[in-house]
Amino acid sequence: MANDIRETRVVANDESIHEHELIIVGAGPAGLCAALYAGRSEMDAVLLEAGFPGGQLLLTELVDDYPGIEEVGGMELARQMADHAAKFGVDVTRGHVERVSREADGTFRVEVDGGGQYRAPAIVYTAGGTPKKLDVPGEMEYMGKGVSYCAICDGAFFKGEEIAVIGGGDSAVEEGEFLTRYGSSVTLVHRRDELRAQAVLQKRFLANPKTGVVWDTVVDRIVGDGKQATGLALRDVNTGERSELPATGVFIFIGFTPNVNVLDFHVDHDPGGYIVTDRDMRTSVPGFFVAGDVRSQLVRQITTAVGDATTAVFAAEKYLQDLHERAETAEDAVTRAARERQTV
Ligand code: NAP
Repeated sequence: MANDIRETRVVANDESIHEHELIIVGAGPAGLCAALYAGRSEMDAVLLEAGFPGGQLLLTELVDDYPGIEEVGGMELARQMADHAAKFGVDVTRGHVERVSREADGTFRVEVDGGGQYRAPAIVYTAGGTPKKLDVPGEMEYMGKGVSYCAICDGAFFKGEEIAVIGGGDSAVEEGEFLTRYGSSVTLVHRRDELRAQAVLQKRFLANPKTGVVWDTVVDRIVGDGKQATGLALRDVNTGERSELPATGVFIFIGFTPNVNVLDFHVDHDPGGYIVTDRDMRTSVPGFFVAGDVRSQLVRQITTAVGDATTAVFAAEKYLQDLHERAETAEDAVTRAARERQTV
């Protein structure tokens, strides 16, 4: 896989319009898998990615649930997926997508920073999500000064210190366990009396001698000394009792908000804003296919993301073929009508 994805990048910093058959937005596992299949099908596709390819993988220390690979670092898997996609020749372009709109004839237009525009009759949208904020006093003030949303990026800053993790899902528990390698202790603060995380992850976390859980408790405030977070002001949701938990590292893993704000048209979504698809990844908007974390679904795993993406590309290919055939039929009808007029 000598084919470095960076070699195929073009910086979109002009006003030109690029026409393609298919635009893939996002370069997490879903986008990279979509690029692989689009390339393999020899579609004229472009993959637009805002930063380095990998998406959430870049924030994941270890992946141990990708079939066939017992253990791999998130960054390493991202690199392998990007190399694999590049091997099939899809045009990978660095471009921060600012707006996705739909023209009157159904063509999609994607505007990226720097002024470039991409047009195509079909899109596979894999823009993922952004970590949710707790929305409590002190969160913004101490962001980057103790408050973090990425264990792999910031964990090492808290060597030998007390760490608090907020949330009860897979991310909180998995990243919490990862943080035990740095912190003197890792205390999970969860608003209920049971975790949402998968049993295997819970077991691993709870078995670690450095971990603890504060149940039925919410964070009222992140406290600090003006320069650095020093702890959490907590409230028991049953008794209302208030307490303080000392922590210089505060990691928030309370889920994601789907990245849909660049969409300039209505597409059906669930109450959480995740885009609703049918089983073929078709949405309420013809030609607009969705895959990965931005899709409304039961679980969001790397395996589900790549599965979605595979289906989405084949569904998009079929959609394009149908469009093409309809255009040819319409053209034939026009030619026939013209011929008939000549013979009259
Ligand atoms: P998630 O599954 O939505 O869990 C969010 C957690 O945060 C829940 O426990 C929730 O509490 C809590 N929470 C939400 N809002 C809160 C608030 N305002 N204050 C306090 N707590 C709050 O999110 P996630 O853990 O980021 O996972 C996202 C998706 O990625 C999931 O589908 C997950 O399975 C997947 N994932 C998988 C893996 C893996 O398989 N290795 C790793 C990471 C993520 P409640 O439980 O009370 O609702």
